[in-house]
Amino acid sequence: MADADRLISGKKRGDDAVDNALRPRRLDEMTGQERVVENLRILIEAAKARRESLDHVLLYGPPGLGKTTFAHVIANEMEVNIRITAGPSIERAGDLAAILTHLREGDILFIDEIHRLGRAVEEVLYPAMEDFALDIVIGKGPSAKNVRLNLPRFTVIGATTRLALLTAPLRARFGAVYRLDFYSQAAMETIVERAASLLQVPIEDEGVIEIARRTRGTPRVALRLLKRVRDYAQVRAGGVITPEVAAEALDLLEIDPLGLDDIDRRVLLSIIEKFEGGPVGLETIAASISEESDTIMDVYEPYLLQLGFLERTPRGRVATRLAYEHLNIPDHRPPRQTPLF
Ligand code: ADP
Repeated sequence: MADADRLISGKKRGDDAVDNALRPRRLDEMTGQERVVENLRILIEAAKARRESLDHVLLYGPPGLGKTTFAHVIANEMEVNIRITAGPSIERAGDLAAILTHLREGDILFIDEIHRLGRAVEEVLYPAMEDFALDIVIGKGPSAKNVRLNLPRFTVIGATTRLALLTAPLRARFGAVYRLDFYSQAAMETIVERAASLLQVPIEDEGVIEIARRTRGTPRVALRLLKRVRDYAQVRAGGVITPEVAAEALDLLEIDPLGLDDIDRRVLLSIIEKFEGGPVGLETIAASISEESDTIMDVYEPYLLQLGFLERTPRGRVATRLAYEHLNIPDHRPPRQTPLF
């Protein structure tokens, strides 16, 4: 099954279209990420008071946590237009030049997966972000001339799941850099409840809690699980989502009480059963369960790390005692020595 087809994947899928209707529009409607919301509030208010365009903003974190949503919210709060694009779809420098020359004063250019911009495209982006200028070459050979075009003052909002893959010069051009974290249980409950009410799904409070618990702190997963549980409730249980209905539906989808799915379990089992608990390299794990290492790194690993089931060591990934306990496997490894330094 392709990663994007998995219920717990934070990545976008085709049937996420209704999500647009559920997307918060203003900062006040954003649940969780309090630190980011507060920082953005200040950034936006200050820029508006000075009647300036907003500083360039970089948002990073696992998929499905709200990077695109924040970009839209910022545009609404600033009352400006937003133009959406993604690193892989800007293939040539000319593509970016075309986008830049169509921007208006104050506009936001949202670049998703900004770590996947090509080097030549980045070279065009640097002066555009720093000096609001576009350097183009007119003509060829000895008569070629460099011409500098002025651009309106615009704002880039970059989003990435891999901050480490961003080149240093690109990273340096963002005045504000914010990390999005997995949401707390309380925040996920609010998000599930809000979505259920917007979708007019009858749900009991305990049903909200049960779904929220299995969303791996990711709003996009929450919306997806809610929709699947709604289907189950409708077909098998008279329409109302009780905690029992939620648990049955999610068990049927093989999503366990912590939100782990089949791949999470295979990642852990592979480390435990094939590699004695690790350390083992990510590529080796990926090969042993026939998954893409990028997918494991972007989608699965961050949550397993957050749960404390995995540890990253210089020699590779290690399954922790907690992972053994969760999978009901006895841990016979000798206690690890804590290095002195
Ligand atoms: P990303 O760009 O990080 O992959 P998105 O911004 O597309 O994630 O968010 C995924 C979905 O989750 C959106 O459809 C949105 O409705 C919902 N969502 C994201 N953040 C929040 C939030 N803070 N509160 C409520 N819903 C949210």
